[in-house]
Amino acid sequence: MGQLGCHSGVKPAGEPSSIAGQPGIVRAALFALCPRCGATGLFAAPAMFAPKCRLCGCEFASHELGPRGLYVVIAPLIIGLVCAALWLDETLRPPLWLHALIWPPLVALVVVAAMRLAKVAWLTSRINREAE
Ligand SMILES: [Zn+2]
Repeated sequence: MGQLGCHSGVKPAGEPSSIAGQPGIVRAALFALCPRCGATGLFAAPAMFAPKCRLCGCEFASHELGPRGLYVVIAPLIIGLVCAALWLDETLRPPLWLHALIWPPLVALVVVAAMRLAKVAWLTSRINREAE
């Protein structure tokens, strides 16, 4: 209770050094939690930030990862997925309709998950830098 600020003044013995109230990057990306206060509603769309946190007022939209940052995350992922598709085709030789059934949702899921993780990691680093 009462841990609204980002500073960790006197911390009780045995508590980890991370700031109280901050969810981890994976948890924040998965459950759309504010990296600063842990409130829900980080994303307005599957991979797009909401304008700001409704609880602590943290500005999400101004910390959106730029297209170059997203390219760095997405490009190797697409190469990996293409290799996976080629490998699957080579080893199991599934029919074409099965490829058409598997890959679109899988690619969408993997790309959205990667974008969310990258964006939350970027946002968290920016917030932590501002707090210092
Ligand atoms: Zn917040």
